[in-house]
Amino acid sequence: MGVILDGKACATKIKEELKNQIAELYIKPHLVVITTTDDEASKVYVRNKKRACEYVGMGFTNLEFKSEPQSHIEEALNRLNNAKGVSGVIIQLPLRKGLDECKLLSCIDPQKDVDNFHPLNLGLLMRGMTSFSPCTPKGIMRLLDTYGIGLEGKLCVIIGRSNIVGKPLVMELLKRNATPVICHSHTKNLKDLTKQADIVISATGQAKMITSEYIKEGAVLVDVGISRDSDGKLCGDIDPSCYEKSSYYTPVPNGVGQMTVAMLLVNCYEAYRMGELIHE
Ligand code: NAD
Repeated sequence: MGVILDGKACATKIKEELKNQIAELYIKPHLVVITTTDDEASKVYVRNKKRACEYVGMGFTNLEFKSEPQSHIEEALNRLNNAKGVSGVIIQLPLRKGLDECKLLSCIDPQKDVDNFHPLNLGLLMRGMTSFSPCTPKGIMRLLDTYGIGLEGKLCVIIGRSNIVGKPLVMELLKRNATPVICHSHTKNLKDLTKQADIVISATGQAKMITSEYIKEGAVLVDVGISRDSDGKLCGDIDPSCYEKSSYYTPVPNGVGQMTVAMLLVNCYEAYRMGELIHE
């Protein structure tokens, strides 16, 4: 049976450290989340971010734009960019229909772009020179590091090529001298690839699609997916039957999701410190 990569414990430690650092500050970092839908999953994610900010003593504001046109959101982003008290700004995705995601993300000041979705920050990531790293890949790296899992020369098969997980993860893994292979819904013979992997990172949102015949003995399993199984229970992409064959695995819940939120707080705190330097 593999060792659990305990995202909850690791995230709690990070949050405790941040809490102590923020307690020393007179003016606190502040995160603003823009939402545009009534989507239930998004509400849960935003609520988790709010709780996490409150826990570490960071300010939090949720601005809702459920029916306003794109131009109103752009104006609000412009105001937030100029607001000294705002350290980080994120736009909760997916957006409601009719809004231009790329244009809105481009309106965020790159120095307040704590999700790292601005095209400039994505470009910097390609060059290995980010100011912030995208939260989920950064959280995965931090968790692997915490458990001393080396990446140098490792074959890492990523399933899922989204802009927020799969693509930035490739860059993070390359920075660490791993050999990433990225797969997606059109990949042929997925199983043949995953079976060779030292590390399998799955981010598809397809409940329990990775079964034990997809992995080799001793592989490290990182499960990014969050969905519900046929009984309505929260689950990941990786079927728990794989854990026995693995050397390490992340559970769902209390794995990668916890690390993602912790990294958002870290990025927001870093944005605050950068802002302080600029205003000094
Ligand atoms: P997305 O829908 O943008 O992308 C899904 C990817 O999976 C696509 O590249 C698609 O080609 C691939 N895919 C789908 N079915 C496949 C299959 N059968 N075989 C191979 N590839 C397949 O998703 P996303 O935004 O990256 O999110 C993916 C999952 O991760 C979701 O469950 C989401 O809720 C979760 N998520 C979790 C966190 C976290 O912090 N734990 C963060 C982001 C996303």
